[in-house]
Amino acid sequence: MRYISTRGGASADFGAVLFGGPAPDGGLYLPERWPQFKDDEIRDFAALPYAEAAYRIMRPFIGDAFTDAEFSADVDGAYATFPHDSVAPLKEIAAGRYLLELFHGPTLAFKDLAMQLLGRLFARALKKKNRHVTVIVATSGDTGSAAIAALKGLPSVDVVVLHPLARVSDVQRRQMTTVPDANVHNIALEGSFDDTQNIVKALFADAAFAARTQLTAVNSINFARIMAQCVYYFTAAASLGAGSGTRVSFVVPTGNFGDIFAGEAASRMGLAMDRLVIATNANDILARALATGIYGAGAVQPTLSPSMDIQVASNFERALFEASGRDTAWMADAMQDFSNSRRLDIPAKVLQSLRARYQAGSANDSETIAAIARTYGESGIIVDPHTAVGLAVAEKLAATPKAPVVALATAHPAKFADSVGQAIEKAKEFPSQLARIMTLEERYTVLPNELGAVRNFVLERTRNS
Ligand SMILES: *Cc1c(COP(=O)(O)O)cnc(C)c1O
Repeated sequence: MRYISTRGGASADFGAVLFGGPAPDGGLYLPERWPQFKDDEIRDFAALPYAEAAYRIMRPFIGDAFTDAEFSADVDGAYATFPHDSVAPLKEIAAGRYLLELFHGPTLAFKDLAMQLLGRLFARALKKKNRHVTVIVATSGDTGSAAIAALKGLPSVDVVVLHPLARVSDVQRRQMTTVPDANVHNIALEGSFDDTQNIVKALFADAAFAARTQLTAVNSINFARIMAQCVYYFTAAASLGAGSGTRVSFVVPTGNFGDIFAGEAASRMGLAMDRLVIATNANDILARALATGIYGAGAVQPTLSPSMDIQVASNFERALFEASGRDTAWMADAMQDFSNSRRLDIPAKVLQSLRARYQAGSANDSETIAAIARTYGESGIIVDPHTAVGLAVAEKLAATPKAPVVALATAHPAKFADSVGQAIEKAKEFPSQLARIMTLEERYTVLPNELGAVRNFVLERTRNS
């Protein structure tokens, strides 16, 4: 399997994509061709253990980077860390409406589903090559802890995580900062999530620095994460009758567009879907882009769903690339313009193609709180604020959906107990693993929003040549 850049100037195999940040031309990698699954293969996923379905769905992406036995061992190991038997259970909350619970991993958010696999593939590939890398992560809250949980203690990896100071929940911060392993380095940046992303992008753009530190990305621009996230779209839809004519709609709480793009990927791999619904909070650049054709970034607004407090959704580039019919010349120009002006006018044909696949809506904080309360009243189920944004948007868009609607539950409510407590008086007790981190010692360094400060920190703290 070969991978190409959305901007047309690079290609790579899986081994390089796994450790790559953006492609050298600034674009993002995608497979040259999407693997294809037939209806009978999709139907079969319903009866398989999650790890087995995951292996079959992801195997074509790996090429010869790993043997079947190696890859199978890492997939099994990754999903064995999920205490729930079905890994990603589907729960009916009302007739034809479902929650897909993606929060049963070690850090209680959906990012574990990809990151646990990535950590294992990293360790295996680095050991083979006797290499060391510095993984750098910009996080709006959940990616950082998922990356740390997957990479802590690995001798071949230093992991540096930047979170925006005071803009992640206490639980989110403590999940990162209480991990004692010496290869874990936390930075609280005096800025927004977009600022942390910009610094990470600038570090990658500095070729000498990137080479010296063997800089590596596990943010959702890493295609291996998207590959791992395709899996639960298949397994959820298969268990509702996909492959036998049923088309499912998915509602996806969206920030950086990685998770929902995995839905597009699944559909391009043969999974028939009704709708993919982009649900955003008050940071609604994507919803506005679909409505107006103007993709324009403004200032980030803090909300109750901090993992979605994002203006520039990096993976939207992948959706634009596909919607343009893989027009790399247009992409290269358009993304260059966007990085200068923070505004992109989506051509009519591209917009039409996006609208054929995606619907979008947004929910503000009071609608989010209302959705948490309503869901609890109707079903007794407590959802977290990110999941609630999805449920609020689903409610607005389709009064009487004709297809089954699966809302992705992206985090455990205990991660956001304060916000959930605003909606439900007797907010649930923390699971014991969270109660424990509330008393452990924290380790992190506050840095100004300056490239030089972060660069020096990385050079001082990590093992580099
Ligand atoms: C990361 C995250 C999201 C957004 O996912 P993207 O892939 O960035 O769109 C939504 N909810 C939670 C809980 C998250 O951690």
